[in-house]
Amino acid sequence: MVVNRRKLDKKVLRILTIILGLLILFLGIYFFFIPRFRIHDFEKTIEIPYASTFAAKAPTVCYGTIFNCENITGREEGNVDTSKLGSYTVTYTFSYKNKEMKEEQEVVVKDIEKPVIEITGEEPINYCGNKKSYGYTIVATDNYDGDITAKVETEVKQEKIIFKVEDSSGNKTVVEKQAQLKDDEKPVLTLQGDSNVFVPLNGIYEEAGITAMDNCDGDISGNVSIEGNVDSTKAGEYVLKYKVSDSNNNESVVERYVYVYQNSEYPSLDGKNVYLTFDDGPGKDTARLLDILKKYNVKATFFVTNQNINKGYDDVIKRMYDEGHTIALHSNTHVYAQIYTSMDAYFNDLYAIQDKVKSITGYAPMIIRFPGGSSNTISRNYDNGTRIMSKLTKAVQAKGFRYFDWNVDSNDAGTAKSAGAVSANVINALGNNNTYVVLQHDIKSYSVDAVETIIQFGLSHGYTFQALKMDSPRVEHRVNN
Ligand code: ZN
Repeated sequence: MVVNRRKLDKKVLRILTIILGLLILFLGIYFFFIPRFRIHDFEKTIEIPYASTFAAKAPTVCYGTIFNCENITGREEGNVDTSKLGSYTVTYTFSYKNKEMKEEQEVVVKDIEKPVIEITGEEPINYCGNKKSYGYTIVATDNYDGDITAKVETEVKQEKIIFKVEDSSGNKTVVEKQAQLKDDEKPVLTLQGDSNVFVPLNGIYEEAGITAMDNCDGDISGNVSIEGNVDSTKAGEYVLKYKVSDSNNNESVVERYVYVYQNSEYPSLDGKNVYLTFDDGPGKDTARLLDILKKYNVKATFFVTNQNINKGYDDVIKRMYDEGHTIALHSNTHVYAQIYTSMDAYFNDLYAIQDKVKSITGYAPMIIRFPGGSSNTISRNYDNGTRIMSKLTKAVQAKGFRYFDWNVDSNDAGTAKSAGAVSANVINALGNNNTYVVLQHDIKSYSVDAVETIIQFGLSHGYTFQALKMDSPRVEHRVNN
């Protein structure tokens, strides 16, 4: 068995050798002697840059044997759009007699260009804070992505600043510049709320806060320290100092003034009392005026009229009364040509406005102000030479009325036509006297706008605001008719 098996093995081996020999022979014949398409210099895949010009380059092809091969020009098909990234196929077709061969080539349009970083500004570039660089402008553009400035990353390393950017295809550009530490800009402190704050005695002072922004460190509001405090149980002026420094010790300081005021219900005998008085109202701005007065707990005096402009504000008159202001009488019609013709005409008008107030509030005011003031001369035009003001000033007192003129004219019915002008006229007139009766008109919007400034000035300068009472100090003009 063993011998037989060996013989068999030898036979198989010989047959295999013959087959192999024949195979090599046929292959050799095929490669060298059988005519066919023969191709050289051909890459199945090529890469070309984005936006470049693509020119198809056909492979070199011939037909024949290795010893005798005839060159063939091929024709190409397929489009390559270099303005769009991606893969394209170009097919080359070669014909020889009625034989044909096709070769496909993959053309890959790729973004292989690096972005460009342009930096304008002085070198070395400044940096500060958390190594934040500044004082230059940077633009990064890419042939494919366009403006990619937002993608630039900066890193400060000792005396160098490194700018890096990568486009969407992964092409990277790195630029280095010299850098230096420089920070001489102060943080900017911005008070929240007003820089002058008014707090009623025993009221609560609420810190409105402050923001601090630094060119280098960014938001450093949390580092602001506050010096000083407010004792709202003691009237007076308090100063709060807000301080902050940036990481390079540039310091900023701002101040806030807090006035703790006591607006006494009673006039101070040796102090300075301001009586705000408003004529010719109520009007569309009177409710707003009442809000301002309420905010500062200031009581005022309203010399009301009943003209067309006053219609529809009965609820405002009621509110004046409910909130503790003094409602006083000015005139029902405010028509000089009517009220100053006779004593009867005057009193008829006066009682008419008194009745109106009484019908709204249940209270009949006895404080009055003559239209035009007791010193007016316009009454001469209508009184037939009876010197009516001389008579009226006595007659009203005989009937129990008390009249008030004014010693501070805001001039809001004259040349002062803005809140600033009105408040300036009043504030400039306030001095160290005991009694200031201020004339304003609450039918003038800008005059109402001036009131808060006047009150704030007064409260922060030791004045007490009062409403006129029957026994308030008399402020009366010299009668001229
Ligand atoms: Zn008037």
